[in-house]
Order: sequence, then structure tokens, then C-alpha cells
Amino acid sequence: MSNTKITAELPHIALFPSAGMGHLTPFLRLASMLLSRNCALTFITAHPTVSANESSYISSFLSHHPQVNHIELQITPFLHSTSTDDDPFFLQFQATSRSTHPLGPLLSTISPPVSAIFSDFLVASSIAPIAADLGIPNYAVATTSVKFFSLMANLPNLLSNVAQLSTTTEVNVPGLAPIPISSIPPPFKDPNHLFTSQIATNAPALSAAKGILINSFDGFEPETLAAANNGRVLNHLPPFLPIGPLQPYELKRDKMQCLSWLDSKPAESVVYVSFGSRTAMSKDQIRELSKGLEASGCSFLWVLKTTKVDKEDEEELQDLLGDSFLDRTKNKGIVVKTWVNQQEILEHPAVGGFITHCGWNSVMEAARRGIPVLAWPQHGDQMVNAGVVENAGLGIWERKWGWGVLVNGEEIAIRIKELMENEKLRRSARKVGEEGMKASEVDGSSEKVLTGVIEFLKQKS
Ligand code: UDP
Ligand code: UDP
Ligand code: UDP
Repeated sequence: MSNTKITAELPHIALFPSAGMGHLTPFLRLASMLLSRNCALTFITAHPTVSANESSYISSFLSHHPQVNHIELQITPFLHSTSTDDDPFFLQFQATSRSTHPLGPLLSTISPPVSAIFSDFLVASSIAPIAADLGIPNYAVATTSVKFFSLMANLPNLLSNVAQLSTTTEVNVPGLAPIPISSIPPPFKDPNHLFTSQIATNAPALSAAKGILINSFDGFEPETLAAANNGRVLNHLPPFLPIGPLQPYELKRDKMQCLSWLDSKPAESVVYVSFGSRTAMSKDQIRELSKGLEASGCSFLWVLKTTKVDKEDEEELQDLLGDSFLDRTKNKGIVVKTWVNQQEILEHPAVGGFITHCGWNSVMEAARRGIPVLAWPQHGDQMVNAGVVENAGLGIWERKWGWGVLVNGEEIAIRIKELMENEKLRRSARKVGEEGMKASEVDGSSEKVLTGVIEFLKQKS
């Protein structure tokens, strides 16, 4: 551990993400925002990580910020007792929360003392007692929408009558508009599913948290935020503290080839297609999507993944799409199978639309730039997020494209054209982008919230 440059009068914050790029990314962004406000940081990571990208982003961040103290927790693999779920990220969520016992002693001996722990919701139940023993506040960090987070906080109540989830048409979270059952992640009907049990285990611990730091902003989910913060969602919840859209941070990298290709395209003419860091599409769906992209006539940049875990992705593009597709579309589009810097792509003026699974980081990256979205949720929180996107005016969502439904190329082409040609959508997305930018500027709503948290911790330090 390196303790250099930690200044006594500033808060010293310990940050602790859970597994996957969708969880690590907001923590690295938050870390960078806290560093630029001169906070001292301890960054806690799990070792080994599931994906190669997690470990490369962690190393790169730490080597650019040598003043950050690093605690690496050795993860003991934990074998889940049911065989129905082998999602390596869910297994890591569980293993990470079960590996936190060294943290209390480690954090109690750091000098200057740690003033607060900002930890992933998915470790809330194991961090709450550690923070209490240290006598410091714990803030939960939410990596999804306020709406889905409210649903997760309410999950123990829903599970108390789990049979009802199989018969009802909508789910009621106090204070929120009813959520159609079709938007609820199917695993919520099974209390033993790891996704469900991890959320249900951590939800009760939220009452011990000082606040819920969330990558969203006032203008994006105003009614949900108001309902949550007025105690209408669950009155034992601490306040939601919207601090988004989180700022991207710069790490020196070589210019990606696809950016040079984008340089040659007219403004707002390219549709960017990506389903995040861990969503593998079926081969049939990949084929239909390729037909849809071609039939839309639009230029496209498609980031294609065929496995959940990046290091297992070895399939060749030619085998997936066929030489003839790649030949026919070579002047129209590019398909990449490598990791890209998505934030940089979304910032490119040539990008005019984004087909996304609605992973929350992707949503906030689009919101920050005001890029119109075609929501195509695949798993987990993504349908609820798609509803939020649509409601905020950032995008369109075809509800018929349900969980596991094979969508044909013609339908995809129609929706892509709508995404790229709908002027009203473009205007409303632009407005979202302006509000998102304003929220994080000096005196913006999100900036004020983060400054308020730091000031509070400074007084306590
Ligand atoms: N991402 C990226 N390059 C890729 C794939 C993903 O930079 O090739 C980033 C993306 O910008 C986002 C994060 O990884 O910040 C993925 O998180 P998200 O919540 O969108 O989806 P998840 O991967 O958790 O499903
Ligand atoms: N809504 C409501 N009560 C609430 C929250 C939402 O009636 O406490 C309604 C509201 O009309 C809104 C719709 O549900 O247009 C969708 O709500 P959502 O929470 O997605 O919208 P937000 O307020 O987050 O923009
Ligand atoms: N999954 C995923 N990304 C997510 C959420 C889930 O890759 O963001 C995986 C996970 O392994 C899950 C599977 O996809 O078990 C299917 O998810 P779904 O939500 O369709 O539920 P299930 O089929 O398990 O009932």
C-alpha cells in the first residue's frame, strides 16, 4: 500500500466497486471526480477480476494516480449451491461480499483515518457493520437508474409474496407508477436465483447507509427522485444523491482506428451499436441485426461481443457475419470485436444514434451527449431503464422486443431509420444532453450534491 500525498484536512474516502465493467466504470469516474476535488482515496478491488478489461482499467487508473492507496482483496471463489446459475459476474458479486473480513482491520490502520466508505450496493450488507465499527458513514453507490434501484430496495417486500409475481400484470413500488411485469427481470420470480438473492440480501442494509450516490440527474428522473426522496418509496431509505452524469476521465491511449473512420463521416450520420461489456447476442440475432443494419441504409459502427467474459471471445468476424456481408457493407459500416472507448465514440460528432441494451452507464453516456437512443434491453435492469430513457425523451423503445425474443432484420431496419430520421427525437435528446451537461457544471444540481457530501465529510474529518 502507498500512502503518499494524503492530506489530513481533506476527507479520505474508501471506494469499493463490485464485479464487472458496469460497476467498475462509475467507481473509476467517481474516483477521478473526487481526486480533482483533492480528496484522498483508497481504492478497494477484488482479485482476481472476472474480465481482462477490469484488471487492465484498474492497473491503468492506479498507475496514472500513484497518490491513490490501493487495497487488493483476495477473493475466495465461492461455489453456489444451485446449478441453475453460473454467471461468472453474479458468482463474483457473491464471492466479493464474502471476502470482506480483512477490510475492517486494514481500513482501521490507515493514516490519516478513512472518513467514509463509498461502496457498491451489492456489498452493502457486508460493509454496513465494518463502517459501523469504524464509526464512519457508508454511502451506497447505485450503478442503475433511480427507478430500478427503488425496485431493488423494495425486492424483499415483493419476495414476501413471490407467487404473486407469476400471476400479476404489474408490480407496485410505493410512490412510483406501476411497473409492468414484462419489464421485471425474470429472475426476480425465483428467490434462489443469484441475481435475486444478492439484491435481496443487500437491500435491508441500505437503511444503515448515509446516502445513495447515484449516476443520474434531477432532470432525467424527476418524479422518481422526488418520490424516493420524499419517503414515498420506502421510508427507511436514506436520501438518493444524484451526482450524474458522471464525468469521463482521460487516460492516455492510442487513437482508436474507428475514430479515424468516423472522422470521414458527416455529422450525426452514423448509428453506433453496442450492448455493453458482457452481453453476448445469439448467432441468429447477430445475423438479423446485420440484415437490419444493411437494410436501413445507414452508416454504422457495431461493437460485437459473443461471450459474457471478454477473454473467452475468440470467434472471428468472418465466421459470424460472412465475408459477403463484410464486403457489401465495407463502405457503409465497420464491425469491431475489440474493446473500444465508448465514451470517446459517443463524443464524436459523426455519431447520430445509439442502439443500446440500456446498461445504465451507456444510458448516462448517451444522456450526457444528448445522443438519441434506440433502447433494446436484454437482461436485468435494462427494461426498466429503457422505460426511463423513453420517458426522459432520450430515446425510443419497441416493447415487443421482449426478453429473449428474436427480432427480425426488417423490424430492426424500420426502427433504425426512425432513430436516425426522427427530428423531434433528435431535439428532445439534445435537450436532455444540455440538461445533463448543466447538472455537472459549477452550481449544477449534481455538482452541488457532490460538493455537499464532500463538505459534510470535511467537517467530520
Ligand atoms: N464499454 C466500453 N467499451 C466497450 C463496451 C463497453 O467502453 O467495448 C463501457 C461503456 O461505455 C460503459 C460500460 O463499459 O461505460 C458498460 O456498462 P453498461 O452499464 O453500459 O453495461 P454493462 O456492460 O454493465 O451491461
Ligand atoms: N409517475 C407517477 N408517480 C410517481 C412517479 C411517476 O405517477 O411517483 C408517473 C408519471 O406520470 C411519469 C410516469 O409515471 O410520467 C413514469 O415515471 P418515471 O418514474 O419513469 O418518470 P420520471 O419521473 O422518473 O421522469
Ligand atoms: N445476464 C447477463 N447480463 C445481465 C443480466 C443477466 O448476461 O445484465 C445473464 C445472466 O447469466 C442471466 C442470464 O443472462 O442468468 C439470463 O438473464 P435473464 O434476465 O434473461 O434471466 P434468466 O434467464 O436467468 O431467468
